[in-house]
Amino acid sequence: MGGGEAAYVTQAFDSNWLSTVGPNLDALEREFTGLIGRPSVGLVNGTSGLHLAFRLVGVRAGDEVLTSTCTFAASCNPVLYQGGRPVFIDSERETWNLDPNLLAKALRTRAERGRLPRAVCLVHLFGQSADLDVIERICREYEVPLIEDAAESLGARYKGRHPGTAGEISVFSFNGNKIITGTSGGMLTSPNEEWVNRVRHWSTQARDPDPDGTNNYIHAELGYNYRLSNVLAGIVRGQLEVLEERVQQRRAVFDRYCRAFAGLPGIEPQPEADFGCPEDLVTGRTRHTRWLSCFLIDEAAFGLSAANLIRALGAANIEARPVWKPMHTQPLYRGFECLGGEVAEDLNRRGICLPSSSSLSEEDQNRVIETVRSAHELAVVSRQDRVSFVGVSRPEDTA
Ligand SMILES: *Cc1c(COP(=O)(O)O)cnc(C)c1O
Repeated sequence: MGGGEAAYVTQAFDSNWLSTVGPNLDALEREFTGLIGRPSVGLVNGTSGLHLAFRLVGVRAGDEVLTSTCTFAASCNPVLYQGGRPVFIDSERETWNLDPNLLAKALRTRAERGRLPRAVCLVHLFGQSADLDVIERICREYEVPLIEDAAESLGARYKGRHPGTAGEISVFSFNGNKIITGTSGGMLTSPNEEWVNRVRHWSTQARDPDPDGTNNYIHAELGYNYRLSNVLAGIVRGQLEVLEERVQQRRAVFDRYCRAFAGLPGIEPQPEADFGCPEDLVTGRTRHTRWLSCFLIDEAAFGLSAANLIRALGAANIEARPVWKPMHTQPLYRGFECLGGEVAEDLNRRGICLPSSSSLSEEDQNRVIETVRSAHELAVVSRQDRVSFVGVSRPEDTA
C-alpha cells in the first residue's frame, strides 16, 4: 500500500457507503478517465471486464475471437462464457506479445472464407505494450473490433500513449498481484460512452427503473453482479496515486537483476521493445513497467534448464515461475486452433519470472541473485565433474 488508501477506505466507512455505489467509485472512475483519457467503469475484476467486453461486441455461440496463446487463462476464458471460440496466435520474439504477421494472416484467410472473427483480444504481457499502431491498422483494415487486455500493463507506454487506448474496449485489473491493487477490482474503458454505461447497467444486475414509482425490480436484459465496491474503490484510489512510484520500483528491481546477471552466461533479460523509435526508450515515451522481471535461460550455456532453476529457487523457498504456459497446450483448450505456437512454447520452456514485487527488499533480492548464481555455479561444476569422470572411465562403464 502507498499510505493514502486507508483514508479513502475510512471515508467509505464513516459515510456508510459500503456497497457498490458511492463517492470513491465515482471519483475512481473520474481519476481513471483522467489517466487513460476514456470513459471508465469500475468492476469486480478484470475477468468480468473482459466478459462484458466480449458481450458488447456481440460474441455469441460459435463466434471466433483471435487472441494470444501466451497469456493467462483470464484473457480467453470469458470467450467461452459467451459460447465463443478462442483462436490462438503465437508471440513475436521482440515483445513476447501477439505476432502481427500471424494476426494479418489469420484475418486474411478468414476474410477469404467470408467469416471474420467477432473480435481480436490483444494482451499486453508482463508490463510491455504490444505493437499497437500495427495491430490497430490490421484490425481497422478488416473492421474487426479490437479489445485490449491491459491487465498486466497499467503504467506502460507505447510511443507516448498508454496501452489500452487503441481498441474499441480495454480492460485493466487491480488484482492482488498486479502493479497496483484494490485487493481485487477491474476497470473497463471505451471511447464509446454508451457502451461504458451499458456495462455499468449489466454489472448491477441490469435493473431498470420502475415506471410505476413503486421500486419493483424490473429486468429487460440479462445482468451480472460485477460492480466494484465503494470500499475497494477507495483502495484503488490510493494506489493510483503511487502508480508512477510502483513503475520505478519494479524497473529498479529488474535493473538490479540485470546488473547482477550481466557476467553470467545463458541468462538473458526479456527485451524492451523500441517499436522502431529507440529514442522513445530514453525519453520514456515507450516503456516496459517490468511488472514481472523475466529472463530466458539457455540450458547449454547456463548449466541448468529454466525448470531446474525454478526447482532450485523453490528449494531455497523462493517462488519463481515459468513464462505463461501457452493456452493451446492447456487441457482445457485441447483441439482449439492455434496459428504457430513454437515461440510461445519456447518462451514457456526457457522463460523464468523472478520475484518482482515493488516491496521486495534489497536483502531478499540479493538472496534471489545469490541462489541463481550458486545454482549456475553448482551446475557448471557438476558438469565438469561428469566430463572428467567420462574422461577417466573405462570402456565397459560406457558400454
Ligand atoms: C490478471 C489478469 C487478468 C484478469 O484480471 P483479474 O482482475 O484477476 O480478473 C486478465 N488477463 C491477464 C493477462 C491477467 O494477467
